[in-house]
Amino acid sequence: MNRIRLMLAILAGKTFIIISRLLGNQGSSFPGKIARRIYPAVLMELAAQVKGKIIVITGTNGKTTTSNMVARIINESNATLIHNQSGANMIPGITTAFIEKSGLTGRKKFEYALLETDEAHVPLLLKELNPSLLLITNFFSDQLDRFGELDNIIKKIKAAVNNREIDLLLNADDPLTAHFHDLTSLRRYYFGFTATSYDSYDSQESREGRYCIICGQKLEYQRYHYAGLGKFNCPECGNHNPELNFTGHNLVMASHIELMVDNIKITSPYQGFDNAYNIIAAVATARILGINEQDIQKGIADYQPQAGRMETFYINGRPAVLILVKNPTGLNQSLNTVIQDISLKNLFFALNDNQGDGRDISWIWDADIEVIEEEQHRIKQVVCSGWRSGDMALRVKYAGYPVERIAIKSNLKEAIEHITSLESEVVYLFSTYSALFKCRKILERMSDVRDRKPEAESMRSEG
Ligand SMILES: [Zn+2]
Repeated sequence: MNRIRLMLAILAGKTFIIISRLLGNQGSSFPGKIARRIYPAVLMELAAQVKGKIIVITGTNGKTTTSNMVARIINESNATLIHNQSGANMIPGITTAFIEKSGLTGRKKFEYALLETDEAHVPLLLKELNPSLLLITNFFSDQLDRFGELDNIIKKIKAAVNNREIDLLLNADDPLTAHFHDLTSLRRYYFGFTATSYDSYDSQESREGRYCIICGQKLEYQRYHYAGLGKFNCPECGNHNPELNFTGHNLVMASHIELMVDNIKITSPYQGFDNAYNIIAAVATARILGINEQDIQKGIADYQPQAGRMETFYINGRPAVLILVKNPTGLNQSLNTVIQDISLKNLFFALNDNQGDGRDISWIWDADIEVIEEEQHRIKQVVCSGWRSGDMALRVKYAGYPVERIAIKSNLKEAIEHITSLESEVVYLFSTYSALFKCRKILERMSDVRDRKPEAESMRSEG
């Protein structure tokens, strides 16, 4: 009886996957939703077909990039894998991912399932399946009103993993992982960085998790790597970074990232410290899975940035780099990456307040845009675009940037054509979510070289 319902659920799910494809939707949660209505245990039963390991990846920033990197490494190792898409990271979307790969009888076996999900969904997910590893990339509050909520979510995750057979892979540089200190019955692995040449000692950035979660005292930082991640200790109770199991060192960030993770040399076409953390988290996961060094190196080197994650276009021979921004932490990190580039540059901001962006754009006032006015960063012009181009221009003006070098062009196409026509060595284009794909299309159309493979290949052979 149950087997028939399971098969019906799979059949319905597969049918709706095909339909939603035909309608042009990709990662969809709807087929999973339908299948669960037919047979609520569908995810539970299909997850039981994973004979190797189920890995759950969560955290505020970087879970999509990290899980895509791990997926790439697992594919390198030729293992079979179920992996949900970033747009479908709640239970119905994860159910869809299982149904898509399963056979009609639901008996097909898999070596791994790699599931990306929001922090808030981890407890629910753990009710339906038994992951052997939970990776938490970091905890940041991406909106101001989320802080209390985040603390609550962490407590729920902790309760969900307690007394289970699950290993934790945690960011040792994130003070909020101290929440997991007392889960001594679980195996906890930690990844993090030793001192890097990009560390700062004082920062105006909005830093969450600065207070000791054990005693509430303000934490002291010896150094910051990125946002609230760094080397910290509590003057009151002695809470400090846990000992590392996976250590990132010799970090070099330029047009690509190079680092050592313990004794493995890693090269990635990505940029920025946030991605350096994603890399080390991905490498640590692969090591825990027992994947060999060559597959790890190749998987990371071959994994190209996706839309909005520092994707480079060439227009009239000059690079134009598209960056998705959605919160102050992300924007601060992207700006930090941009100012490390000493070229003469123009900046473009596309700010929308569509559903996908969050209606409230006040977050731009929490970001440290002030860095752009500093002369040594060589930012020649700023163009503000999108529906809220005026608000963005106002923010740039209040950052102390000269008004005569700010232009407002709410039409995306006009704005991009304008910024790329001005003198500079590189253009950095920041965009909120709902404007991103339009910007991308415009850039693609303006692009000199459609196939950017040769560049990627030469980068690979260097590494
Ligand atoms: Zn303390």
